[in-house]
Amino acid sequence: MRDFTYETPATRVVFGAGCAGRALAAEVERLGAGRLLIVATPRTAALAAALAEGLNVVAVFDGVREHVPVETVDRAVELAERSGADAVLSVGGGSTTGTAKAVALRTSLPVVAVPTTYAGSEVTPVWGTTEGARKTTGRSSLVVPKAVLYDPALTMALPARLTAVSAMNAMAHCVEAFYAPGANPITDLVAAEGVRVIAGALPAVVAGPGDEAGRAGLLYGAYLAGSAFAAAGSGLHHKICHVLGGAFGLPHAETHTVLLPHVAAFNEPAVPALRTRAAPALGDVNVADGLTRLIARIGAPVSLAGIGLARSDLDLAVKLVLDKDLRDNPRPVGEPEVRRILTGALHGRLPVSTAT
Ligand code: NAD
Repeated sequence: MRDFTYETPATRVVFGAGCAGRALAAEVERLGAGRLLIVATPRTAALAAALAEGLNVVAVFDGVREHVPVETVDRAVELAERSGADAVLSVGGGSTTGTAKAVALRTSLPVVAVPTTYAGSEVTPVWGTTEGARKTTGRSSLVVPKAVLYDPALTMALPARLTAVSAMNAMAHCVEAFYAPGANPITDLVAAEGVRVIAGALPAVVAGPGDEAGRAGLLYGAYLAGSAFAAAGSGLHHKICHVLGGAFGLPHAETHTVLLPHVAAFNEPAVPALRTRAAPALGDVNVADGLTRLIARIGAPVSLAGIGLARSDLDLAVKLVLDKDLRDNPRPVGEPEVRRILTGALHGRLPVSTAT
């Protein structure tokens, strides 16, 4: 048994269909809060208002944008201060949760999160903002939502295409948790269960988005994924995704989906747990094949070219990935390896697991 440190954020989790409507008032009261700032998108603002009916909502910020631009956070913080809000209610996907977390970082306000996708951000201490093409991320206990209401009923309308890639984003948190710097026996356990639950539920939900049990499974998987990621941290896969999202504007969840089998194939020879824990949870003998089959089954994107990366972007992408500190990867990774991973993903080739 290896030595380890395991730190879990102090988040209260309430899970169940309809729980957001039933439990929100009690969760706000537990925080001793009475003046809510709603953070939402134009799409989720009405839902947030309905959930908060009867509570004292002092302001609504519905200007959430993808990648959490700093200007957006400035506006939300200004609104929080001007309205005298004493808590933030976030209702939406990872971009919304990310905006609420960025507000919490600057104001120390507690956040109650109601996620509507499978991003998993609501249980992690990781925050991220963008300024132009530059993405800045950090960790702080200030941003971890104090309460999360996981209500599968609120995810029923998530279209099949978004469901597929959002759940693969959660899958990426689980797979990377097996070799990220803070990986330990507990994160292995949580991540393996996340892989099993997501892989088990996802094909059925994509085939029939009204599958209530499957939706609950995916949301539970998202919680496990976020929990594993929160403790294990991020590694090569997330670093490449950040480069591709920040410098080339590639869509977040789709990028995770395309890259995951390629990075997993590369690291698999150096990470026994990928073969012994993640692969069986995918119902396969190796993790890259299991992921590739799952992605084919759900009809999700398989090439970076297909989601917006030009062939002419490849050299810059390789350089930007190499600018990151990759020394904590379980397999040495340099220019030829990054180029091989990105070239395979660019063209949607089948990932090949190769030992050094
Ligand atoms: P998102 O929040 O941008 O949502 C994607 C799309 O889904 C949007 O168009 C949104 O309007 C729509 N949507 C959301 N919920 C819906 C619903 N129930 N029904 C229909 N449509 C719905 O993206 P995301 O994939 O949820 O999250 C990605 C973001 O989260 C990225 O910025 C990423 O960096 C961040 N993230 C952060 C962490 C962390 O730990 N900090 C972890 C995972 C993701």
